[in-house]
Amino acid sequence: MRLTSFSFVLVTVWVLCIGCASRRGTWDFTSKQSATCGLHKVVMTPKRVNLAFGMKPNTYYEAPAYKAMVQTFPHGDQPYDIGTCSPPRQRYARVYVCPVCAEVRRQWLAENK
Ligand SMILES: [Zn+2]
Repeated sequence: MRLTSFSFVLVTVWVLCIGCASRRGTWDFTSKQSATCGLHKVVMTPKRVNLAFGMKPNTYYEAPAYKAMVQTFPHGDQPYDIGTCSPPRQRYARVYVCPVCAEVRRQWLAENK
């Protein structure tokens, strides 16, 4: 039993260290996706943004920032959060960015510092 626990700790430390240290590259999320913003009906452009991960508490999804993002600027120029527990291999995400969403996000951030 002790060996199993020790092995688990070793593997966890290894995954965290190696996984974080080797994150590079871009994960493409534009493939087979519409290039038109469903909210603003304008053409979006592909852009490389930071790829975020990590489980969030339920309060994260109830916060005004999250609700504003989902409802008013879903394709703003912002990190793309995949919500996984473990880090992905890639450091960046290629996503479509809507110019209207990006402006709405910029204004929302300025008004909600
Ligand atoms: Zn938009």
